[in-house]
Amino acid sequence: MAEYFQIQPAIFCEPCKDCGARPVIQHIKEKFVVLCPNDKDHYKTKPGLVDIKDWNLKNKKQIPFVNIVPAQKAP
Ligand SMILES: [Zn+2]
Repeated sequence: MAEYFQIQPAIFCEPCKDCGARPVIQHIKEKFVVLCPNDKDHYKTKPGLVDIKDWNLKNKKQIPFVNIVPAQKAP
């Protein structure tokens, strides 16, 4: 069974970009996932270390400079 942990109030977390909830930490088999407590289909981080930085990045209203489109080859 997975365990859930509240994130300490002192730690800054962006609210879930879909529903505005504060994320929780799920502990599964030695690994941690930062996820939305309301819906498992909302963004969650990859299992591993507690990655609040990644959560914050993905739930920011404005996506910072990220190369989504592959760069085109120069002619
Ligand atoms: Zn959510």
